Amino acid sequence: KENVASKVVLITGAASGIGEEIAYEYARRGAKLSLVDIRKEKLEAVGDKARSLGSPDVAIIGADVSKVQDCKLFVHETINYFGRLDHLVNNAGIGGKSVRVENLRHVSDCAAVMDVNFWGAVNATLYATPHLKINKGRIIVIASVSGWFPMPLISIYNASKAAIISFFETLRMEVGCTIAITIATPGLINTHLTRALKLDKVALGKVPLGSANECAKAIVESACRGDMYVTYPSWYKVLFPWKL
Ligand code: NAD
Repeated sequence: KENVASKVVLITGAASGIGEEIAYEYARRGAKLSLVDIRKEKLEAVGDKARSLGSPDVAIIGADVSKVQDCKLFVHETINYFGRLDHLVNNAGIGGKSVRVENLRHVSDCAAVMDVNFWGAVNATLYATPHLKINKGRIIVIASVSGWFPMPLISIYNASKAAIISFFETLRMEVGCTIAITIATPGLINTHLTRALKLDKVALGKVPLGSANECAKAIVESACRGDMYVTYPSWYKVLFPWKL
């Protein structure tokens, strides 16, 4: 089991939800944190709590993962400040609009979902990879169960998560000897993202929402154990009977 005390962990989308809780899990294990989010003002409080939970040092970086230059910048700032990078957690994500495919008039309506969820994770990874290689580091990517089993109304979100799984499986084949990869595929978790999706209330009512805190705990435990995959909660069977 990997001891992450004093190791450097960069987490995107750390200002709320699963990313925030992942920051606290690493903090409890004594890791140094580089917290990235588009909402920098919210990161300050997360940083304070992470320090109080045991993180020896926390850097706060406001950045938009959908911008290539921002990804370059937050990796560079992390290296400049801490001198190394051990774990990259590609967590930042958005849900986009809930809309039936037949009502989707133009892909530009949903382009941001791909830009953040897919290209954001890819770009952060491209800049982080040379640094992760030095210490035989790890990439943790927060995909979704919907990348395996698509859910209705969120076609582009599903596609972004399927694309992420495919991309990181490819990367694993290519760099698996030097960088380990953990792919997380959570089910529905009670966060801002899930509430904003405004999914069908009847269907949602049938699916118990998991907690961000327990989800993050499962993810960080799995990553430190060296698992290739982690899912929480495993409700695949509950998701299947969704009807519109
Ligand atoms: P959330 O909305 O609570 O957190 C997402 C965070 O990402 C926010 O702090 C937000 O400000 C940040 N963010 C959004 N766009 C960004 C950008 N362009 N650049 C930088 N930061 C940005 O939602 P969450 O549910 O905690 O989502 C975290 C991850 O977990 C996402 O990738 C999401 O797809 C994934 N996920 C969520 C669920 C769920 O049910 N909530 C299930 C499976 C996977």
